[in-house]
Amino acid sequence: MPRLHLLDVTNRDGDQTARIGLAKLQKTIINLLLAELGVHQSEFGFPFSFHEVPYLNANLELQERGVIRNLILSGWCRATVGDVETALRLTRVRHFNLSISTSDQMMRSKFRSRFSREEILRMMAEATDAAKQGGALSVGVNAEDASRTEAEFLVEFAGVAREHGADRVRYCDTLGADDPFSIYDRINRLARGGGLPVEAHCHNDLGMAVATSLAGALGCIDAGYDAYINTTVNGVGERAGNADLLSCILALRHGPSARSRDLLDPRLDLTKAWRLAKYTANAFGIPIPLNQVGVGANAFAHESGIHADGALKDRRNYELYDFEELGRGEAESVETGREILTGTHGGVAGLSHVLETKLGVEDPPTDRVRQVLHVVQLATLSTQVPLELEELKLIWEHPDLAEKLVTLPEPPQKP
Ligand SMILES: [Zn+2]
Repeated sequence: MPRLHLLDVTNRDGDQTARIGLAKLQKTIINLLLAELGVHQSEFGFPFSFHEVPYLNANLELQERGVIRNLILSGWCRATVGDVETALRLTRVRHFNLSISTSDQMMRSKFRSRFSREEILRMMAEATDAAKQGGALSVGVNAEDASRTEAEFLVEFAGVAREHGADRVRYCDTLGADDPFSIYDRINRLARGGGLPVEAHCHNDLGMAVATSLAGALGCIDAGYDAYINTTVNGVGERAGNADLLSCILALRHGPSARSRDLLDPRLDLTKAWRLAKYTANAFGIPIPLNQVGVGANAFAHESGIHADGALKDRRNYELYDFEELGRGEAESVETGREILTGTHGGVAGLSHVLETKLGVEDPPTDRVRQVLHVVQLATLSTQVPLELEELKLIWEHPDLAEKLVTLPEPPQKP
């Protein structure tokens, strides 16, 4: 029975979005929280980019230390031998997605007709070969603008990728141009013809990213292959965003077309969804909309007479799923009296107090506090907001790796 996997791209597609971005420490905590939620894979950055390298390697080390568990960490590269070789040389990333445009529109107007279809296939095949020969454990090949690519060529693209050892093909609805009916058929045909699992990578330009992701994935499952859905936390992403992680999970769990098919990994723990959404919203500096699926302030709020009366009699009258399922329901307290914070200009006494009261560290040794103080200062410098508990905990328990996350790397040598 084919399975469905969630491959979150918040730390790649979300992070590259205009006007917003994440500090490397924040990307790390998002990986940690994605792992706690039980997501299969995180596309965690760009391994050919100099400023990503220390973060990527530090996260792989956190994985080896058992801090990030059961989460595949993969990098995004252009489908060129150059990107792949750079990534293999600079990082220990060994799971990749390699991307190249396949639509006539982009080949004509982005590549300026420099490459024929044969050359697109050749570049993708050579990049895949380079990754596999360099020790890659898995390779997905991305057909950028797949939704506007001729169906026959997409099948050919996937077939060549398979011959060169690729593990799956990413169907990029780069412009959010598909609808649920079109993408079901196109991915179904792609999986059957290409003989590979397919990733549905959908954008929200027509307001349907979650629906197209679900339909595309079911098209792949119905073809007999494992399917992947690319998501982002809170739907953050280029332009109108990507498919929201929580919405996709809820649609698969509670929607009529998927719920009886048992496609989701049983390890998924949605009680982490609330914290992940809140942390990510704070990290990006984008408040969660009032009506956000599952985690918005109004997702379980009832005011009008008929609704309030109905919800009080039986929550199922007006709630499709339970807030407890999503990790909601705990009261949150806000300090209104004296508050000691630590930060860019903080000192030993303040940090010791925060460690004791917020993390429950009893009598933190002054030497150790002194050792991590500069990491705390640099961390706050990189995020520009007071440290979150997960960040403080990571710094306290793994100061050597945390230091790598908060220290700016040297720019590459100019030729
Ligand atoms: Zn995208």
